[in-house]
Amino acid sequence: MKSARKRRVILLGSTGSIGTSTLKVARELPEHVEIVALAAASNIGKLAEQARETGARHVAIYDRSLEAPLRALLPENVTIHTGPEGLIELATLAGADIVLVAIVGTAGLHPALAAIEAGKDLAIASKEILVMAGEIITTAASRRNVKLLPVDSEHNAIFQCLDGHQGGESEVSRLILTASGGPFRKLPADELAHVTPQQALQHPTWDMGPKITIDSATLFNKGLEMIEARWLFGIGMDRIDVVIHPQSIIHSMVEFTDGSVLAQLSRTDMCFPIQSALTWPARVGGGLKPLDFPTLAKLEFEAPREDDFPALSLARRAGLTGGTLPAVFNAANEIAVDAFRAGRLPFPGIWHCVSAVMDAHEVLPSTTLETVVSADQWARQAASEFCARK
Ligand code: NDP
Repeated sequence: MKSARKRRVILLGSTGSIGTSTLKVARELPEHVEIVALAAASNIGKLAEQARETGARHVAIYDRSLEAPLRALLPENVTIHTGPEGLIELATLAGADIVLVAIVGTAGLHPALAAIEAGKDLAIASKEILVMAGEIITTAASRRNVKLLPVDSEHNAIFQCLDGHQGGESEVSRLILTASGGPFRKLPADELAHVTPQQALQHPTWDMGPKITIDSATLFNKGLEMIEARWLFGIGMDRIDVVIHPQSIIHSMVEFTDGSVLAQLSRTDMCFPIQSALTWPARVGGGLKPLDFPTLAKLEFEAPREDDFPALSLARRAGLTGGTLPAVFNAANEIAVDAFRAGRLPFPGIWHCVSAVMDAHEVLPSTTLETVVSADQWARQAASEFCARK
């Protein structure tokens, strides 16, 4: 049996949904997981409470103006880091061996790259950074020989099914990502225009942060995950499929060339993939309950409504084209989701915006950090202009 070493974890995005679940896992597994540093954008009350609970000696707050009020909430022996540089200082701290990136959006990209350069393993929840810069991250990780451990439940499921290997063509036919289908799985297409942010924020099976919940309702989340899988498992976009599985019990599957399919199953609780990523390659007992099969009424599967929810075909186009287009796909979606949540864009406006911005983009084949960052900025501007015209 593989024995579990203790993981000293830097947690970026500690005050969010994934961050909170990570602290729950750490609480259950004090012999295996120690939280040494925490970072958030602006929620100083929760950050300070987490620092007191975990005994973390370093915290980062992105909003520099909050340093003084945060100082007042923390014990003197806690060092505060601020701004984008603060995240990088945190991600490269000596004495920690893994960085869990759970910052929503792309602010975790530079800290993630800095952590890799510092030789730290990465547990990645922030799918946006893999979509924007998957080639850069995976190349850097393999050059520095650090491990990329997926936290997203689908990718963690595939990682478990592949048992830590890559998806080589001789053995793996395809990866099958499961999707709950979101709250509008059965809504007629002509009613999608009337969907409100409140309705889109009601996910049928998962309790998550607001951005990913909206992404689940549009299926952009699954589109982002297709590109994420492409980089994490080194597999072509044409071998990544999506199936709707409304119960969210099977978290994803791998179909092998001999026709066998392996699946990973668990309750819908992000503590499962977080624990798996933080204790890999060992398996340890914690507070998580296994499935109770007799109480599971049924497991259903259906094809996604690709014509009504164009996110999947837009993602396939972005992933197959490559270059700067995935970064544009991701950035335009982030802006459109914000506009929808603020009531400035109707629900279908999200995919109309992303599609228009992708159409207007002159794709550069090169994916240096500079080109993807500038494509990301260009797309944010183009998407903001699109939303302002609506
Ligand atoms: P939340 O909105 O719940 O939390 C976001 C976290 O990021 C908060 O801690 C927030 O701090 C922090 N943050 C935002 N911007 C910055 C910044 N510039 N610098 C430092 N911290 C920042 O998001 P989720 O936890 O739902 O999602 C996080 C990531 O994980 C996303 O990329 C999502 O796609 C991915 N993911 C989430 C899943 C889930 O179940 N929630 C499942 C799979 C993947 P503050 O609280 O101060 O604003």
